[in-house]
Amino acid sequence: MTTAALAEDFVLAPAGAVARTLRRGQSLQITDLEGQQVADVIVFALPELSDRLWPSTTIRLNGTVYFTTGHVLYSELSRPLLTIVEDTCGRHDMLAGSCNAEIDKVRYGVDEHRGCVENFVEAIAPWGLARPDVPMSFNVFMNCPVQPDGSWSIAEPASRAGDYITFRAEADVLVAISNCPQDLNPCNAGELKPLGIAISAAR
Ligand SMILES: [Zn+2]
Repeated sequence: MTTAALAEDFVLAPAGAVARTLRRGQSLQITDLEGQQVADVIVFALPELSDRLWPSTTIRLNGTVYFTTGHVLYSELSRPLLTIVEDTCGRHDMLAGSCNAEIDKVRYGVDEHRGCVENFVEAIAPWGLARPDVPMSFNVFMNCPVQPDGSWSIAEPASRAGDYITFRAEADVLVAISNCPQDLNPCNAGELKPLGIAISAAR
């Protein structure tokens, strides 16, 4: 996106989160500034906010679990929310959902380990939304390979410094982004790093 057309261009600190509304036609770009850093993304349709990003609908309508340029993220009611219009990485995740304190207690035995769900709850609170409203996320730059035998794992991201993904809003939406704080598995390759966020001006 050209600088002149940007409404916002900022750095999202490691483990930080942000929520923004996008008008139909606006673009959101997420850049992996240093490489191997995941951004969890959730989306709500405006104005009612009750129809949300729905991974199973999105997988069925795209016919894949690996999403890249040209694929569309759909809501529970099969409304197009975001289209991926640019992607220099080519590997993202739609199966893992978001890290959270409860699953990290179960899988790693740690207490109150802040995750993307806790980040989302804070970020969407100003819109009157709470934890039960948080849908499964689309995880930008997260690398979870599915093997032919069905086995699944979290691997280090394939993204390198400067890789980016750009979404175009297909409806008026609320988007929340969590700069994933997961440091207990290979999700972020062992180090939490900043992300670049750019939003195009409304038309
Ligand atoms: Zn996370």
